[in-house]
Formats: sequence, structure tokens, C-alpha cells
Amino acid sequence: MDERQLRCLVALQDIDIMIQEHEEEEKLGFKTEGIEKLKEMREELAQKIQLPLLRRYERLRQHYKRAVVPVQDNTCLGCFVKLPTSLTTRGKENIEVYTCENCGRILYWLD
Ligand SMILES: [Zn+2]
Repeated sequence: MDERQLRCLVALQDIDIMIQEHEEEEKLGFKTEGIEKLKEMREELAQKIQLPLLRRYERLRQHYKRAVVPVQDNTCLGCFVKLPTSLTTRGKENIEVYTCENCGRILYWLD
């Protein structure tokens, strides 16, 4: 997969989590600022990500707060299961995305 796509996806996730945190604070009665700006940035980023990948990410986000997680020592940091050596799965839409076979999260390597 295109490295840039993955970087955009990680940034998108960060923004999504920030928006979520703002919304949670607002529910508790705190007044928050900057949420409109965050939503604008989210839209801009979302446009850079190929639609099938974005859809996949959004489906995962319904289950997990973090849909894209790093891998360390060959371990998925989403569910802490050791990954098999053959990781590549090819999606229907012909994009190569690395996913954890245990939890289904999208993976990225820190190095
Ligand atoms: Zn996992």
C-alpha cells in the first residue's frame, strides 16, 4: 500500500479521536473550541484517502476506538496477538492493506 495513504489514515484517526473527545466533553457540559476546525481538517484528509480504504477504516471504527494500530515485535498493538509471517491480504478493491487476522485492525509499522 501507498505509504502516504497509510500516513493520512493515521492522521485521520487522530483527528477522529480528538473530535470524539471534544464531543464527549461537550456532553459533560464543558464548552470546547476548535471542533469545527477539526472537522474541516478531517474532510480535507478524507479526500486524500482512497474510498475503499476509507470505508474499511470507518467500518472498523464502529468497533474500535483505534482502527489503525502499530506493530511492534511482530505483535499487533491493538489486540496483542503475535502476527503470522504471511500478513498480506488483498482486499476486494485491489488495495493491499495489512490487517491483523485476529482483530481485523489495519496495521502499520513504526520503523
Ligand atoms: Zn490485532
